[in-house]
Amino acid sequence: MRIGAIEAGGTKFICGIGDESGRIEDQISFPTRHPDLTMPQVIDYFQDKGAEAIGIGSFGPIDIRLDSPTYGYVTTTPKPGWANYDLLGTLKQVFSVPFGWDTDVNAAVYGEVKWGAAQGLSNCLYITVGTGIGVGVYAEGRLVHGLVHPEGGHVLTRRHPEDDFSGVCPYHGDCLEGMAAGPAIEARWGKKGHELPAEHKAWEMEAFYIAQSITQAILLLSPHKIILGGGVMQQPQLYPLIREAVRQNLNGYVSSSTIQNHMDEYITAPGLGQQAGLCGALALGLTAMSNQISTI
Ligand code: ADP
Ligand code: ZN
Repeated sequence: MRIGAIEAGGTKFICGIGDESGRIEDQISFPTRHPDLTMPQVIDYFQDKGAEAIGIGSFGPIDIRLDSPTYGYVTTTPKPGWANYDLLGTLKQVFSVPFGWDTDVNAAVYGEVKWGAAQGLSNCLYITVGTGIGVGVYAEGRLVHGLVHPEGGHVLTRRHPEDDFSGVCPYHGDCLEGMAAGPAIEARWGKKGHELPAEHKAWEMEAFYIAQSITQAILLLSPHKIILGGGVMQQPQLYPLIREAVRQNLNGYVSSSTIQNHMDEYITAPGLGQQAGLCGALALGLTAMSNQISTI
C-alpha cells in the first residue's frame, strides 16, 4: 500500500510517501510561502508517487467539521494567502483518492498512538511547544474535534511569581502560547531558546507554564500519557523540571501509580521523534482509506 502524508506547518511543509506499517519511504520539505507557490510544490511531489490515499495534518485554525461548507479550509490564520484557503479542496481537484484531514497536533497524537510512544492507549495528549503551542487530543479511542477543534495552546495561565513579561499572544497576551512558545522565550530573555544555557532561569519558568497546562489536562481529561514535542522541547532538561512541577501541582491528589511512580513514562518525548507529525498524517491517510473501503 502506498499512502501519502502531508505535514502542513506554518513554517514548513513536509510531504512523504509511506506504507501501512508507518514506514516513510521518501520525504521532502520546503518552506511555507504563499499557497500559490507552496501548493504546486505539494502537487508536484505527489504527481508520480502513486498514493492510494493522502493524509494531511495542518497548521490552523482549520475547518474539520464534516458538514461544513468550508470543510478542508484553513480559516483565520494571519499567514498571507492562507486565511480562508481551501487547502484540502485544492488537492482533491488533482488527486481522486481518499483524504484524511486534521490538525497538525491531532495528526501527531494519532501517529504516536498508532506507531509511537502511546501505542494501544485510548487516551493521550500531544503538546507541541514550538513557534506556537498546540495540543492534539485523543480521547476514548478517537481524535477529539468538538465544536471547532481543541486550541489548548491558548489556555489561560497563572503567572510565575518572578515573571513580569506581558506575553506575546496577539489575542490574549499572557495565555500559554503567549508566555511559553519559542517567540515568548526570545522576547522575554532577548535570546532564542537554543542560545540560553541549560541552567538558565528561563527553563524553570518554561516548565512552570507547561506544567500548568499539563496539570489542567490531567484533571480535565485523565490521559494515559502526555507527549511533548516541538523545537523548544529539544531542551532535555525541561522534561524533569516539568514532571516535578506537575507532581507539585497535583500534590498527591490524583491517585494513580502511573503518576506517583512512573512519571518518566507518563510525560515523555515523542516515540516517533521529529516524524510524529508526518507519520500521523500517514495514519490519517490510512484511516481515510479504510473508511472508504468499509463504506463501499
Ligand atoms: P514550528 O513550531 O515552526 O513548526 P519548531 O517546532 O521547530 O517549528 O519550533 C520553532 C521554535 O522552537 C522557535 O521559536 C525556536 O526558537 C525554538 N527552538 C528550536 N530549537 C530549539 C532548541 N534547541 N532549544 C530551544 N528552543 C528551540
Ligand atoms: Zn493566546
